[in-house]
Amino acid sequence: MAKQNIDWSNIGFGYMKTGERFVSNYKDGKWDDGILTEDATVTISECAGVLQYAQTVFEGLKAYTTANGKTVVFRPDLNAKRLQDSCERLEMPVYPTDKFIEAIRKVVKANEDFVPPYGTGATLYIRPYMFGTNPVIGVKPADEYQFRVFTTPVGPYFKGGAKPITIKVSDFDRAAPHGTGHIKAGLNYAMSLHAIVTAHAEGFDENMYLDAATRTKVEETGGANFLFITKDGKVVTPKSNSILPSITRRSLIYVAEHYLGLEVEEREVFFDEVKDFAECGLCGTAAVISPVGKIYDHGNEICFPSGMEEMGPITKKLYETLTGIQMGTIEAPEGWIVEI
Ligand SMILES: *Cc1c(COP(=O)(O)O)cnc(C)c1O
Repeated sequence: MAKQNIDWSNIGFGYMKTGERFVSNYKDGKWDDGILTEDATVTISECAGVLQYAQTVFEGLKAYTTANGKTVVFRPDLNAKRLQDSCERLEMPVYPTDKFIEAIRKVVKANEDFVPPYGTGATLYIRPYMFGTNPVIGVKPADEYQFRVFTTPVGPYFKGGAKPITIKVSDFDRAAPHGTGHIKAGLNYAMSLHAIVTAHAEGFDENMYLDAATRTKVEETGGANFLFITKDGKVVTPKSNSILPSITRRSLIYVAEHYLGLEVEEREVFFDEVKDFAECGLCGTAAVISPVGKIYDHGNEICFPSGMEEMGPITKKLYETLTGIQMGTIEAPEGWIVEI
């Protein structure tokens, strides 16, 4: 399929309507087969469960063009599983893994003209999501749901190299112990908006959230997990029941251990020890790793030795190895790359 005439290297991270999207409905206890449609609008009851009580969950993954011209997606089985975990927590029906992967395949295939070419740095972002559609006024789960998958091309996250960012320790909490921080649900984002708008107004790029119970341990940012590098080259990542299990972070840990021979510790990370780390990065599908140069904490600054000009050396190796795996220039572990 001929590619769209788009200036791939200069598009941002925004919504662009593409050709087709996948839609499947759940009614009377079962999912229908689903269809591809050109209709990019959703028509639901004014009293739909999603509109009244925020019963909605989502996922995010990307399709890439590899160095040898194949269209691939990265570990979609993990997105399927995580969506199921999110659905169970919000009393929503699960969407089966095989049907999920099939839906991803169909949508990417149908929009192959929007998959950015290799070397542009751009990718096709894929957004699967589910929401309650029937009227719900007494507080209870909906009985009917819609599962949709749309795609939108997104530009290179870092134009002209990954500059380290500055983040602040937030005075707001993201997730309660035993709450919903571990699922990918819109509700976690709705309540983070005030915190991120506030942080941006103060001149910071992101928020570092601490654990809500004690405010002594590092959790994550609004949409990415932390990875730290110790001065002796160990990879450290926070372990907590209230952070979202990032697929990028889990993949980077595997890369650290099995490709780079680094020692990895997944454990509680106290904020007090952050000043002793050599490098810090945020990991998620959007950027793979965003380097953090500085953390602002109520008048005190933690400046990582890696500085404000470029990624730290180990962070960079991790970044280059994982993006090489995704782009097909480094051999991937079994099952990580699904060809469309
Ligand atoms: C999606 C998300 C991440 C990153 O997860 P990936 O699977 O790596 O994209 C991290 N934290 C939060 C809160 C998220 O919603």
